[in-house]
Amino acid sequence: MASEYPKWLRVDPDDFDLSKLDPRDRRGPDGEKIEREVAEAKHLENLEELKHLQYLLYAESKRSVLVVLQATDTGGKDGAIRKTFGALNPAGVTVHPFGKPSEEELAHDYLWRIHHHTPQDGHITIFNRSHYEDVLVVRVHDLVPKGVWSKRYKHIRNFEEMLYDEGTTVIKFFLNISKDEQKERLQARLDDPERHWKFNVGDLAERELWDDYREAFEVAMKETSTDCAPWYAIPADRKWFRNYAISTIVLEHLRSLDMKYPEPEEGLDDIVIE
Ligand code: AMP
Ligand code: MG
Repeated sequence: MASEYPKWLRVDPDDFDLSKLDPRDRRGPDGEKIEREVAEAKHLENLEELKHLQYLLYAESKRSVLVVLQATDTGGKDGAIRKTFGALNPAGVTVHPFGKPSEEELAHDYLWRIHHHTPQDGHITIFNRSHYEDVLVVRVHDLVPKGVWSKRYKHIRNFEEMLYDEGTTVIKFFLNISKDEQKERLQARLDDPERHWKFNVGDLAERELWDDYREAFEVAMKETSTDCAPWYAIPADRKWFRNYAISTIVLEHLRSLDMKYPEPEEGLDDIVIE
């Protein structure tokens, strides 16, 4: 049941202040500080159970899972995808990135391009950026008037509730890195020729808008962290903690689905294969 979803790191819409969150927080679900080695070992254990539950999800083929990843630039979305979902069977996993909308996409409502990519029964889809860009970058840069974007929180709540009602588990992660950590990660991209392709000069202009983005993220999460589709704000300066937190929360959600193998056909026990 939605109300039993994990509380750890979950965004409570009535009590949420992004500026109070520590991107280097390393407290586990029990409130105790977790050591790196322990978190790494638990992450690997989580992956084993996740593989099993993915198999069950696929076999049952009645429900699906949508994971939404949002972060500021260099926040670690790619790494998070590789380190958690990279362990799963690719036959049942799709990663979909959402970049700048095409002309055709812009000529439709903003959810048009999103809905097409939600997961089919038995599958897990990961959105690398999502419909939330339409209340983040769009809001920060005034790409549409306030009267237009301000109505989108309601649309998004309704859209995600519909997905939930139709059998999709929606889990949303905000990877929370500090401004200092972003500086280091941008610098690392500059220093390493193999990572130059990841460096966009435009990211520096976005960095100047750090506070505006923080505000947009905070409002978006408050407005749309619901029982049907909760947000989790993940302390993400430490990659090992980020990975451990994500695998733990996805696992809790999959466990709560209480999935079962479909009933086998009658008489399988009597079959003798010649
Ligand atoms: P990247 O994830 O680094 O490939 O960058 C994708 C870019 O597309 C980012 O700068 C996003 O802000 C931008 N983007 C994604 N969705 C939208 C949207 N709906 N409207 C405008 N820009 C977007
Ligand atoms: Mg980028």
